[in-house]
Amino acid sequence: MSSTSETALKPGSPIQVFYSGNRGHLPTIDRAKGVYLWDTTGKKYLDASSGPVITNIGHGNERVLQAMNEQAAKVCYASRAVFENQPNRNLAKKLVGLAGPSFDQAFLVGSGSEATEAAIKLARQYAVAKGEVQRTIVLARNPSYHGATLGAAAVTGDPQSDAVFEPVMRIMPKVPAPFSYRLPEGVSVEEHALDCAKQLDQQITETGAENVLAFIMEPVGGLATGGLVAPDCYYKAIRDICTKHGVLLIFDEVMSGAGRTGTFLSAEHWPDARPDMVTLAKGVAAGYTPLAAVLTPNYIVEPIVASGGFLHGHTYSANPLSCAVAVAVVDEMLRMDLMSNARDVGAYLMEGLRKIADQSAIIGDVRGKGMLMAVELVADKASKALIPAEHRAVYRLLEIGIDNGLLLYTRKTAGGKFGEWVMVTPPLTLTHEEADELLHLFAKSISDFERELAD
Ligand code: PLP
Repeated sequence: MSSTSETALKPGSPIQVFYSGNRGHLPTIDRAKGVYLWDTTGKKYLDASSGPVITNIGHGNERVLQAMNEQAAKVCYASRAVFENQPNRNLAKKLVGLAGPSFDQAFLVGSGSEATEAAIKLARQYAVAKGEVQRTIVLARNPSYHGATLGAAAVTGDPQSDAVFEPVMRIMPKVPAPFSYRLPEGVSVEEHALDCAKQLDQQITETGAENVLAFIMEPVGGLATGGLVAPDCYYKAIRDICTKHGVLLIFDEVMSGAGRTGTFLSAEHWPDARPDMVTLAKGVAAGYTPLAAVLTPNYIVEPIVASGGFLHGHTYSANPLSCAVAVAVVDEMLRMDLMSNARDVGAYLMEGLRKIADQSAIIGDVRGKGMLMAVELVADKASKALIPAEHRAVYRLLEIGIDNGLLLYTRKTAGGKFGEWVMVTPPLTLTHEEADELLHLFAKSISDFERELAD
């Protein structure tokens, strides 16, 4: 996901500049190891966000590099029209095995956006194969992010993107995400979440259940909702609503999956949720190669295969090199027991962040699960108002972090409507000592920014 509304293409520049803020230039990356990166001037940075929540097993993992070299020396690419490849089989088997008995197949693609597209097309072909040809609508939440391609943008809850791209896509209806920080007066977190679920039910009824294919959402919020975790009752409610209307429930676990929240899928935290499909990306290959997946049960795949097969695929889908690397990444995640570490060091970080929040006037909320956390910034805790726009709060904090050698990943929702936050999503390899350093640099960056605000 592009990190800020300051995303820009620099006129006349041969390279795409994603974040420049007021800094004028970005440091140039030289090398990285574990949770650290160094720029070409030799300056060292601690990565508090795993880039855009991707480098789950840290940088420069020797076993992964060895697997990469070995596969590259054997074959990087072979046409899937002619050849099966063993790394593809190995990876699909591994992902399905880790995801548990609800899933039987893994369809491999190259990015999270491609996984969203594939999940939507699987849902559509499944409906057509069952004779439910009227089902075309995919519901999603507002705000949300499910990818940059047009199908994925259509289910993304982002009015800025809608305003530009509406003429070239069919924007899908959205229902509210169950935020718990700013609640309607006198309403509990649970009541609000159940009201959001009720709005899904109403939206399906208004749209006509016979027209609705699927509902897509992140079970634990990534950048779009900043570590949003709904109360347990929400997950059961949305499952029951989808079942009642024959609507498929798709969990986008591009950020929350692959161990980040302490279980392989974050869906595992809510056994009642039972998504029909799950998308994975980012942490599955942890930035070593592009790789993503859609996990599906046989009951979706079989009618599609019987009706002639899945009408989808990309040149790079399931290529041997990416698959072999992802197998090594997942093996490393298991060998180092990173899901336990995500729970253990994640809880330690959460406690540390809450202590920093207690000392700070501008941290309104700290939330998340495992090592998928976010810190929400406010002008003051009582009103929960936004920091005035001229201070460029989360963008400025990102810049201060860079100066302090701390890499952050930040989001201001469109017009600030749902708030703004800083993700705290370090590599799952983070040790307690590295967590202390992260907390120290984070506290320093917050107090540097507070001093700037006071000037
Ligand atoms: N879904 C979610 C929840 C994401 O956070 C992202 C990317 O940030 C995507 C989908 C799209 O993934 P990609 O950027 O690999 O296309």
